[in-house]
Amino acid sequence: MTPQEFLKTLGPAATQLYQKTGIFASVTLAQAALESGWLKKFPVDKYTGKISYNAFGIKGFGTVGSVTYDSDEVINGQRISVESQFRSYNNYYESMADHHKFLEADKYKPVRNAATPEEASRQLYACGYATDPEYPAKLIRIISQYGLKQYDVKEDKKSMKIYIDKGHGEDGDPGACNDGLIERDMTIITGNALGKRLEEYGWGVVLEQGNLEITESANAANGCGADLCISVHYNAGGGDRGEVIHSWKSGAVELANAVAQGLKKAGQTKLKIIKCKANGKGTAEHFGILRTTKMPAVIVEPCFIDNAADRIIADTMEEQKNIGICIADALAEVYGGSLAKTDAATVAAINAIHTAGVSSSPDYWLENAAPGKQVNGGYVGSLVKKATGKTTVAEAIDALQLSNPAYWLEHAVPGKTADGKFVGYLIQKIAKIL
Ligand SMILES: [Zn+2]
Repeated sequence: MTPQEFLKTLGPAATQLYQKTGIFASVTLAQAALESGWLKKFPVDKYTGKISYNAFGIKGFGTVGSVTYDSDEVINGQRISVESQFRSYNNYYESMADHHKFLEADKYKPVRNAATPEEASRQLYACGYATDPEYPAKLIRIISQYGLKQYDVKEDKKSMKIYIDKGHGEDGDPGACNDGLIERDMTIITGNALGKRLEEYGWGVVLEQGNLEITESANAANGCGADLCISVHYNAGGGDRGEVIHSWKSGAVELANAVAQGLKKAGQTKLKIIKCKANGKGTAEHFGILRTTKMPAVIVEPCFIDNAADRIIADTMEEQKNIGICIADALAEVYGGSLAKTDAATVAAINAIHTAGVSSSPDYWLENAAPGKQVNGGYVGSLVKKATGKTTVAEAIDALQLSNPAYWLEHAVPGKTADGKFVGYLIQKIAKIL
């Protein structure tokens, strides 16, 4: 293979694996190029001639066993030929995925966490991947010579679109009911909070409107071009765990794992990820929302509302909301979202109030006066008093002529938090009157 053919074959897979493991695609490709001589030379069994498709010269056993092969090693400063067992695969892609799995070991953490491909190359030697002291320099030379950094692309997930099916619609059947908890009302709160938080990550969100029939809701998900679909329910029937049931489509298991991580963040300690059972004919998923949707889809049941111990994570509205937020945060970790930062107008206003001596800690506001952040209400109270020269928060709010004084009366007090986005607007308003 020429280097060009090699890169055409392995480049996209290296970029894809980079999203998951954080190991630079450029380093993966340089390693494969170096170890296999651009796939011209790789371990072949010295006795049987069996081809290994082992692009990295990794020893041990691969998906289809091993081959016996002689390789050069530097031992006590001397280069000698040593016979070893090398991993064997069905194809190069398997070899590449296995290489990343191999580097998931604790000892290679510095390789995964390296800030640059050059540092990752040096760490491979430092962590004991290779015995040749020239190994990092060789990788770095290949990366530079063939422009391999072009494969280190983080796929932009900003355009992700999520469809949220509220299990029982806005005014549909109440679902499970127990001791004051009504499933439909809970799913609305959790679903809305999930949607709001995902929007703060800059993702597109389409919420089920009204009370759609299951197939209609699934068609709405298909129609809006959603990348993922989450159907929110709460469970009943005497169990004791959070459940995530996934469709059979590619990517659904990954989604289910992410959603389960969200439930864990929200305090659910018992979790089960379940592959959807088949319909009567055994040809498709049993649940309509999973069967009809074309994108990866899951049904999430955060807890059993008729189990006193299990429902404890969701028996207040605040907690039902938090479950939605936690699921969104977990999705962002897996699919690569980040919360919107303080916008330019707010940054300018923060700098202005700092210059005017109203705020002594601009860093706090720069960090927290942003969408998705919660701001200490006591700090907001002090800020409005200082900005207006008033002695009470109520007088200060009055003096600022804010559009929603009731909100600030409730939130600009110690022990409460205020929405970071609103605080940003508040600071802009303060900056104008200085
Ligand atoms: Zn339900």
